This record gives sequence, C-alpha cells and structure tokens, in this order.
Amino acid sequence: MSLSQGVSYLAIPGPSVLPERVLRAMVQPSPNIYEGKLPDVTASLVPDLKRLAGTKGHLAMYISNGHGLWEASLANTMSRGDKVLVLVTGRFGFGWEEMARGMGLDAEIINFGEHEAIDPARLRARLAQDKEHEIAAVLTVHVDTSTGLRSAVPPLRAVLDGLSHPALLMLDAIASFGCDRIEMDAWGVDVLIAASQKGLMAPPGMGFVWFNDRADARREHADCATRYWDWRPRAKPELFYEYWDGTAPTHQLFALREAVNMIQEEGLPHVWQRHEILARAVWAAVECWGKGGDIALNVADAGQRSHAVTSIRMGGGAATKLRKWCEHQAGLTLGIGLGRHPEEDYLRVGHMGHVNAHMILGALSTMEAGLTALGIPHGRGGAAASGDVISTALRAPCPD
Ligand SMILES: *Cc1c(COP(=O)(O)O)cnc(C)c1O
Repeated sequence: MSLSQGVSYLAIPGPSVLPERVLRAMVQPSPNIYEGKLPDVTASLVPDLKRLAGTKGHLAMYISNGHGLWEASLANTMSRGDKVLVLVTGRFGFGWEEMARGMGLDAEIINFGEHEAIDPARLRARLAQDKEHEIAAVLTVHVDTSTGLRSAVPPLRAVLDGLSHPALLMLDAIASFGCDRIEMDAWGVDVLIAASQKGLMAPPGMGFVWFNDRADARREHADCATRYWDWRPRAKPELFYEYWDGTAPTHQLFALREAVNMIQEEGLPHVWQRHEILARAVWAAVECWGKGGDIALNVADAGQRSHAVTSIRMGGGAATKLRKWCEHQAGLTLGIGLGRHPEEDYLRVGHMGHVNAHMILGALSTMEAGLTALGIPHGRGGAAASGDVISTALRAPCPD
C-alpha cells in the first residue's frame, strides 16, 4: 500500500520546486537568438539580479552549475600558486577548496566543524599572522547545504578591515540566495556566487558571479583566467552572444525571468521573512520529536541556522528509513545526509524557493506519521507545534 499519488513535494535543497508559472514560461518554441524577446529578457534580468544581490557592481552569467561558479570566481582573480583561505562549515567548503587545488592554488582550510558557524576570532587570529599578505582571498560559504549552518558575513569583513588585510572576501550564496538576507555591497563582499536552481526557483544550468571593482582589478594579473570563464566580456558585452560566450540558455532564461517576476511581486523582504517563518516551523517540529527520541537539529543555535535547509540527525539509521518511507508511501522526497557520517543518521529538509505554509505543514505531518509508522521513538506533537509557529506568525491584525 502506498499513498504517494498526487502532487509530490521535492523537499531536497536544490533543485527546488519549480512553480507552475515558471514551467509554463518554458513551454514555447525556440526563440531567435539574435534579436527580439531573448536579448530583451536577458538584458532585463541583469539589473534585477544585481538588485536581488544588493550590489551596484558587475554581473557575469554562465551556463553552469555551482561547481563551475567556484571555478569562475577563482579563474578571474587568482594566479597559480596564490594562497586562498577557505572557511569550512560542512561539505561545500571542501568542494571550493578542492576546486582551488585543482586550479593550482595553495588552499588552506580553517574547519569550524559541522555544528557551529564561522567564528570571526579564528579568522582574525590567522590573518594577523599573515604579515606578508600572502592570503589572496577568503572563501566563505554563507549557508552550508550539508550542515544547514549559516554564518554571519559582516563580521568577516570587519576582521579584514580591522587588520587592513587586502584579501578578497568571496561568498558562496548558492543555498541562500533568494531565501536568506544577502546584501553584497553593504556586507563588503567582493565576489558573490549563486545558481539558478535553489532560491531562484529555476532549473539547474545557469550560474551568476557578481563582482566589484576591487575584484575586477585582480583580473588584470590573474593567470588562471581562461577565455571561456573570463568575466569581463560577460559583464560588459558588446554583442549579445558575449553574455554567454555562445548560444544563450534560451528556455532557462524564460524560466528565470518568470521566477524573478514572482520574487519581485512578493517583495524580497517578504521572501526572506517567509523563509524564516517556515524554517522556524520545521525547527519546532524537530525539537518536539527530540523530546522523546534520538532526534535532533544539527545546529543548536537558532541564529546559526539556514532558513532554506535544515539538517536533522536521527540515530540508528532512522533518518534513511524515514526518508524512504516519506518518498515511497507519501510522495515527499527529503534530502540525503550528504557528506555526513554515518549518512543513514542524517536527512535534510529543503524549504527553499517556492514553498508555503501548507507544503511545510504537510511535510512535517508526513514525517511525523512516518516516525509513528516505522516505530521510531519520538516526542509527540511536532506537527501541531509547527502549526502554532505558523498561526502565531500570521496573527497580524487584519488590514481594513
Ligand atoms: C548546491 C550548492 C553548491 C553546488 O552547486 P551545484 O549546482 O550542485 O554544482 C555549492 N555550494 C552550495 C552552498 C550549494 O548549496
């Protein structure tokens, strides 16, 4: 017996749920790639994506997933042998480090573990030793998608400024863009990267690198730069094909245009607030379950938790059992315990992009039913607790 028929919810941390409007925007014939709608849509997205990033800087767009953006960000700023300092809060920091090593860079890690966000004091201690300014960039993952850790960025800029250290501050916001507050210029971020398939609610395949003039100055001497990854023609194209260095990702662009329309209609501050409330609903359920079983949120400090993805530990392999039950019995697909040990003890709930109260409440009720069905010990009332978070948040006075 399975009750998985009907509308499924892909609650993994990317790719995220594609809105109907976004899907429909893609159902059209191939456009002319030389003039008309496609160049217009592309040009219209550039200022909108800069606004969403909170920057007046530059934007280069790539036909790429997030891994390509790690390479693009380094290719335009680094020379072989340069040293980068990678601040690691989970699997994805290691990914950027591996990319840096593969490009011939000297990558050093500060590992903050899997349960705590970046501690600016440890960054300060390391940079203070770097009297010769050998560290060319600090690579930071805003939200690590494997642990659900979210680190504050302005304190990192304050450390660099306090030491007058010239390293670039680079931020991987792939899991947080369009979900958590990001203000590139106000935060003093020099290079920001995000991809299409998470908070931006579009299919995977497009990536974005925002950069300021400080970062662009490094481009002059960066010997890692290659023709395809060069951000300059993409950021200041003289001909349309230069945006993408070849054929534009036609239908992806129609999808993204519609998704960005949806974000603009809702308003970015509301988008951030919605994600925060829905995240708190997830946490409330897990905290209840943990009162009667070996179940816990991966991040204890709520101020260090992502609003887009939540990592949950369920001991004794219960996480994988529950994940399979939810998928096969109830049409809810949860994220695997990526990069965690043992992987069967972890799962992730993706609550990024096109998600609302009923999807989250449905997901949590489903998970609670699964815990009961599988005989996994847990505290009762998790789904009701998450409902309380939502109803309290919505108890704002009715407008006249
Ligand atoms: C998803 C993700 C990536 C990798 O993106 P891909 O598109 O899978 O290459 C990198 N960093 C973070 C923080 C992510 O969430």
